[in-house]
Amino acid sequence: MNDGYQLQLALPDDFHVHLRQGTQLPAYARRSAAQFGRILVMPNTLPPICDGAALRSYRAEIHTAAPDCQALMTFKLVPGMGTAAVQDCIEAGAIAGKYYPAGATTNAADGVADPQQISDELALMQELDIVLSIHAEDPLSPAMEREAAFLPIVERLIRNYPKLRIVLEHLSSAAAVAAISNWPERVAATLTAHHLTYTIDDLLGDKLQPALFCKPLLKSAADRAALLQAATSGSPRFFFGSDSAPHPADAKLSAAAPAGSYTAPLALPLLARCFEAAGRLDRLEYFVSRAGADFYQLPPKQGSVLLTKKAWRIPERIDDAIPPEAGRLINWQAQRLP
Ligand SMILES: [Zn+2]
Repeated sequence: MNDGYQLQLALPDDFHVHLRQGTQLPAYARRSAAQFGRILVMPNTLPPICDGAALRSYRAEIHTAAPDCQALMTFKLVPGMGTAAVQDCIEAGAIAGKYYPAGATTNAADGVADPQQISDELALMQELDIVLSIHAEDPLSPAMEREAAFLPIVERLIRNYPKLRIVLEHLSSAAAVAAISNWPERVAATLTAHHLTYTIDDLLGDKLQPALFCKPLLKSAADRAALLQAATSGSPRFFFGSDSAPHPADAKLSAAAPAGSYTAPLALPLLARCFEAAGRLDRLEYFVSRAGADFYQLPPKQGSVLLTKKAWRIPERIDDAIPPEAGRLINWQAQRLP
């Protein structure tokens, strides 16, 4: 595409975002609202979102900061929470329950060690048609194999809950893409902009890039190619979830950097660049604005974004976090239209 080329998309949704808590939450929420009409907010706060009151107050905080962006809410599945708490979250408006394997990522120490621990909760979600969202990694496996190692557990869930709708979050491997394609249509996946853009070599092939350190880890070029093929395929099974997960720059630059990439401010430019390189800009709107809404059975949303092919320099810091490619030029801009 030539410089100045413009593409207008129906207002996108982000089906996986971390907004954190406290003083930075409003800035993170507004950053998502600048490009997205709806965001699915992850519940791994401290304490986690696992009752109706916590969910309502978190949603109200987000709404105050970014009233033009609809916060869709999730709750965290914690062993022993009970079906009454699940019911409470659903009555408060949750559209998905999130399964974190114990110890898999940020604030997941209280996660699920075995799906048997939450069998009643899952049965209720199935009955009420609430989506099960999964961080599909086995934290006890070698770092690069954790996602593939978790797939047999997903298979068991698919068998044991024959109507439960499931989303595997932030796919990172060709193995997971193949699994999704073989599973029933009620199983789908989110793909992030960073897993579609980078490989493990971008993270650590030269100087270490803490901004790209995330869970699941970035993988090989072949894995990335499989993810990009899935994203640009037009399949209803793959849709956008940024997994944008900001950390303050000083934590990211410490001797023990936490996992998470702050991609919300540049998600659409990153995606436009990937889809353009794949020769499939025509499929970008379906991936970011339609497929996920269809899976979650949400109505179309008013509004649009304008993508313009025009270079801009990514700041060194955004909201005190280090974005990917900080200080470098990227050749797409995104602007939300009223
Ligand atoms: Zn996440």
